Amino acid sequence: MSKGRPIKRMFSLLPVEFRNSAIAGRGVFARRHFNPGDFVVAYAPKQRKVGVRSPDAVAAAETKLTLLSEETSVIIPDTSVPGGWLCNHSCDPNAAIFSDGAGRIQCTRAISPGQEVTIFYGWVSHNEPERDPCHCGSERCRGFINFDLSDEDAKHAHILEDNTVAMDEVLRRRLGEYAEFLHSIGQEQVKRAIADTLVRMKLRKSGSVVCAF
Ligand SMILES: [Zn+2]
Repeated sequence: MSKGRPIKRMFSLLPVEFRNSAIAGRGVFARRHFNPGDFVVAYAPKQRKVGVRSPDAVAAAETKLTLLSEETSVIIPDTSVPGGWLCNHSCDPNAAIFSDGAGRIQCTRAISPGQEVTIFYGWVSHNEPERDPCHCGSERCRGFINFDLSDEDAKHAHILEDNTVAMDEVLRRRLGEYAEFLHSIGQEQVKRAIADTLVRMKLRKSGSVVCAF
């Protein structure tokens, strides 16, 4: 190599770019085609992992950017470095987040170059039905990112002696409709968060009660 030759700046080899999105803030956009199952981008190239009960995890949860990993630890992204944590929510997402290891975004539906990579947040709220308005623009948009459970909903559920939750027809129909929607977009894991929230509302504490619907 000749001396004094200027070093060319390498262009990014990342298969995605981070730029402003019509949905919200900065988003993640594909630079190439992705097929279902393809790895798209790391959740947080720079991150730290803390115990699920550590004060840092509790404080970071306020940012809504943390990712629970293997039930025991929480991944907190360093937001000075862009990554999959920038993915916007869509009610009809083309990718999903996986929390094992360091966390990653994986394609679930074909993504074309230039398209925004979206995931389903699966937030469950309590008595705040309009907490997170959704601007995903999908034909299937439900209007809100969060699925809300109210105290009124909780009245329709009862915890049985064997620690299962019984629901009456009213609540079963409401959750059943949402469960069908979740199934149609391959996000059935959100049912677990709904069940956990319902149990916490009934017991006013976290518990290991089983709830299936
Ligand atoms: Zn939406």
